[in-house]
Amino acid sequence: MKTGVWLVVLMAMGGLSLRALQPSHYDLIIRNAQIIDGSGSPAQRGDIAITAGRIAAIGKVRGSAKETLDAKGMVVAPGFIDVHTHAESVGSLPLAENFVRMGVTSIVTGNCGGSALDIGAFLTNLEKSPVSINVATLVGHNTVRSEAMGGSFKRKPTDDEMTQMKQLVEKAMQDGAMGLSTGLIYLPGTYSETPEIVELAKVVSAHGGLYASHMRSEGLEIRQAIDELVTIAREAKIRAQLSHIKLSGNASWGQAADILKRLDQARAEGLQIAHDQYLYTASSTGISVLIPSDAREGGREQLRQRLANPEQKAKIIADMKMGLLRNGRKDYQYAAIASYSKDRTLNGLRLPQAAKKARGSESLDDQIELIFEIELNGGASGVFHGIDEGDIQTFLQHPLTMFASDSGVRRFNEGAPHPRGYGNNARALARYTRELKLLRLEETVRKMSSLPAQTFGLKERGLLKEGYWADIVIFDPKRAQDLATYEQPHQYPKGIPHVLVNGQFVVRDGKHTNAKPGQPIRKEARR
Ligand SMILES: [Zn+2]
Repeated sequence: MKTGVWLVVLMAMGGLSLRALQPSHYDLIIRNAQIIDGSGSPAQRGDIAITAGRIAAIGKVRGSAKETLDAKGMVVAPGFIDVHTHAESVGSLPLAENFVRMGVTSIVTGNCGGSALDIGAFLTNLEKSPVSINVATLVGHNTVRSEAMGGSFKRKPTDDEMTQMKQLVEKAMQDGAMGLSTGLIYLPGTYSETPEIVELAKVVSAHGGLYASHMRSEGLEIRQAIDELVTIAREAKIRAQLSHIKLSGNASWGQAADILKRLDQARAEGLQIAHDQYLYTASSTGISVLIPSDAREGGREQLRQRLANPEQKAKIIADMKMGLLRNGRKDYQYAAIASYSKDRTLNGLRLPQAAKKARGSESLDDQIELIFEIELNGGASGVFHGIDEGDIQTFLQHPLTMFASDSGVRRFNEGAPHPRGYGNNARALARYTRELKLLRLEETVRKMSSLPAQTFGLKERGLLKEGYWADIVIFDPKRAQDLATYEQPHQYPKGIPHVLVNGQFVVRDGKHTNAKPGQPIRKEARR
């Protein structure tokens, strides 16, 4: 009998693997690591062997490799998965350096209702022009609604438009979208009613996809907003993700425990709901959200016309002042301009200071005039300081809260964007785990790896496990630290020296290697 046959017989008899009989040769072995596998179980010492982009062995690894990395003193964990990003532009910033430098190896984009319209083309382009990171996407409700309903938004869709929206969502799901996202404070989604979303969510549910929502309110009306999320999950029989869970505006602070209780009650009836969170007391979105939706409905030209009418303008200003008052604010001091291409000297300034610079006065009326001016000149992104640290800490300890940045791909040194895009994952490791000890390190890693992978259905990722993709982050648990601040956001974290995507180093010794091993991640067809 030939040796090969004996091997097969032996393996069948004793359950021995080929590896045990014959020392293997791997692409890479990471030795002496403190392995945190992403499941939440305690760290263990060991080695990890990688071959052809996948984890080939884990534990005490014998054999040799083309390359060996000594990870003494380091934690080796699954690459972080950031399920809440706005990275439609990843093709033009393919290194995605702000993400990979904080240990992120996979992102989910298409959030808050905005995505590529042609999901198939978006994902295929990532194969034609590769990027450094794995990319999955949702299909955005606002994208689909704009396409089907044109510029006329403040109404229900006609039957034909509803049919078209369903077809667009169906096509996106067939093309590999992970699910549907809504952004219900944004145009035009803010004019949709719950049944419209339920209809679309049913299309997604038939594919086993997920529904992720930037809800209608994250402040005074958050309870009604959660009720809507729960209704959609229940009626469409769909898994739901509450995007960037938070309580905005100090009139709403201190209710995190109660909000979590409401979500737990919904789970008790069998619904699957999870949440993601960024670990900062400021939010970030377009400055345009400061202007009431009805004033912006139909687009910038419409806004210009409304502002040209003194009566309408007075009404818009009154609404804005009332909005401030309801949230217990006297002006827009809480808001900073992040990136305004028309006048970059305003970037980084709070609105009163920006009004002073641009208009010579920091009065509330001048702040409002500046907001109009910015919007009519193409808009700007902003950073809004309105979240309570206590609420953040309550939300982050819930076992179904995962950490996600809500960031886009950053162009280094451009504008004054929210620091979360450079620091969120490192901040979880440093501030909330090592310093405040609110979470075990293994739990923090789980919230950035297996929890997001399982929730969003990213197959064979999110765990250090034989056969899984070798998406790996290697960090120093004593030193890993975010350095990005509101004042100086363009700073990569420290203490995260190596990051591998699909078995290839994208960060090595703290530097981007320029490798682009990222893959598009498509939702698998339902079996
Ligand atoms: Zn959002």
